[in-house]
Amino acid sequence: MMIPMIIVLETGITEKEKTYIRDFLTGQGLQVREIVGEKDTVLGAVGQVSLDQRTVELLPGVARVIPISKPYKLASRELHREDTVFSVGHVTVGGSRIVIIGGPCAVESREQILEAARAVKEAGGVMLRGGAFKPRTSPYAFQGLGFEGLRYLKEAGEATGLPVVTEVVAPGDVEAMAEYIDVYQIGARNMQNFELLKTVGSMGMPVILKRGLSATINEWLMAAEYLLASGTDKVILCERGIRTFETYTRNTLDISAIPIIRKLSHLPVIVDPSHGTGIRDKVLPMALAGVAAGAHGLIVEVHPDPEKAVSDGPQTLYPEQFRKLVHDVEALAPVVGKEVARLPENHHLRAAVGETVQFTGDSCRVAFQGEPGAYSEKALKHYFPEGRAESLPCGSFEEVFDAVLKGKADWGMLPMENSLAGSILENYDLLNLNPDVSIVGEIKIRIRHNLIAHKGVRIEDITEVRSHPQALAQCDRFIRDHRWASIPAYDTSGAVADLSRDRDARHRAAIASDEAARVWDMEILKEGIETNPNNYTRFAVIGRRENVNVSKPNKATIMFEISDEAGSLSKCLAFFARHQLNMTRIESRPIHGKPWSYSFYVDLDLPEDISTFEGAAEEVKGAVKGFRILGMYRV
Ligand code: PEP
Ligand code: MN
Repeated sequence: MMIPMIIVLETGITEKEKTYIRDFLTGQGLQVREIVGEKDTVLGAVGQVSLDQRTVELLPGVARVIPISKPYKLASRELHREDTVFSVGHVTVGGSRIVIIGGPCAVESREQILEAARAVKEAGGVMLRGGAFKPRTSPYAFQGLGFEGLRYLKEAGEATGLPVVTEVVAPGDVEAMAEYIDVYQIGARNMQNFELLKTVGSMGMPVILKRGLSATINEWLMAAEYLLASGTDKVILCERGIRTFETYTRNTLDISAIPIIRKLSHLPVIVDPSHGTGIRDKVLPMALAGVAAGAHGLIVEVHPDPEKAVSDGPQTLYPEQFRKLVHDVEALAPVVGKEVARLPENHHLRAAVGETVQFTGDSCRVAFQGEPGAYSEKALKHYFPEGRAESLPCGSFEEVFDAVLKGKADWGMLPMENSLAGSILENYDLLNLNPDVSIVGEIKIRIRHNLIAHKGVRIEDITEVRSHPQALAQCDRFIRDHRWASIPAYDTSGAVADLSRDRDARHRAAIASDEAARVWDMEILKEGIETNPNNYTRFAVIGRRENVNVSKPNKATIMFEISDEAGSLSKCLAFFARHQLNMTRIESRPIHGKPWSYSFYVDLDLPEDISTFEGAAEEVKGAVKGFRILGMYRV
């Protein structure tokens, strides 16, 4: 038969066997890629030779051979089931992060690109774009500053810490450009310039591949295949609109290409709403549409003074509009289970506790309650930079505090409040009891419950479902409709873990996160079975107080006890009002051992100048019995 093929290796394969298989395949004139997945390791073999599948199947260490049916091989999800995730400098592309790239269409001058870079960074963008070689429709239009422009771009990237991306138009420039840039961009007009693709691919560096003006999704993936086959595995696909009969917009942004690409390919895919519409005020809505459709990022044109831009001014955002775009994408991200990527120095935790957090070096350890795959683990994976947090499962919330206090973990992740079920008061009490621990940050994630069972189990086979009581309650309609028995378990992922160990339990299902299904190698029978889709949980990140050196907090959580007399609460609240501090939440809690007396937990927004808060805190302290700042942090 004809290759290419996917060769799934046996789990116990020796290095010697693997080398033998590799050498055998390359000896046949094939190109071999090793892909290490969570569950298995596969070799992808592509080339222009034909080879009998059975010959490969008989090699020691080979579990099975699967021919790849799609015309694109290295780009196809058949070869690589998990999403491709890679780093560009300190920025992670792919997975659960949304990477926002901003910058002008063209580098026009040193000052212009430096100013643009500062604006992009200040707004929360994580990469800088700017063309130095511009493929223009007219030979008389500005063609770009060439290598001089690349020098300015590099300087702007270094000044701000933003990795830089720029378009390459000529195979002859590829090598010389490498020292100036972090990511090559292949423009729409060059998507099928195969010599350019081969040369760029051979550099092994990250590449943004724009979709051609009239390229089908298949042709686009075939172009990606050229890059991959030439030696890079860091390809980002970019939907930037296609040519249709519509003339109102510059191009027709094909949002449907995003979920299609995500199904067909493992490569990250981003959206360019600027070229996709050509109209400044259509950029924000289409950026949001792209993210809602599942894009891993956005590339947006932004200029310090768009009216003066030498190219693409009408579609270019003002810095203020770009800031709003980042802000709105931040609000949308949790709805689609993602987080906006941040530079390490802009990370909330780094901003709150300063140099104590070294995201660029070793990873940190984070304790959470539950089994692997718990929602708290999902929260910590979202909060900390990708791949930097090692999770430490704990049996109870007390154990999380203990792990943090004893230094077994650097940080802890605690659920504090669910949008439907209310506060997890146990954690407020534990914060109160442990003055050496402080809140250092927070994150909100959407809770999407899934029905999970053994592989091959059908929904009709199920008679009972197990999970944490809160999860069962949140899926009550679905459970009632199926007339299943609901059985409470200690935690959501624990219910999946137990089920996975009981191989014969084919009448039982568990309710937990998608992550829990993945970790315990179980099947999701139905996604999103919660009754109310507005199901979010707010988590607090905790750390040892001695490690916290708050520099720019914007939120505080405090606790105080008041005496049982008329007006004592309103007196405290008046201090906040007088200092113009916005209270975002207040909750009362009975004090243990003192029936009918209460402590209050209050969240406050902090102004830039935190001395206002300190002033109010002093006044409150003087008027109450117990007073504690549970944390000042950045959200
Ligand atoms: C650009 O990014 O400025 C550009 C020219 O894009 P495209 O190749 O998508 O037209
Ligand atoms: Mn442009």
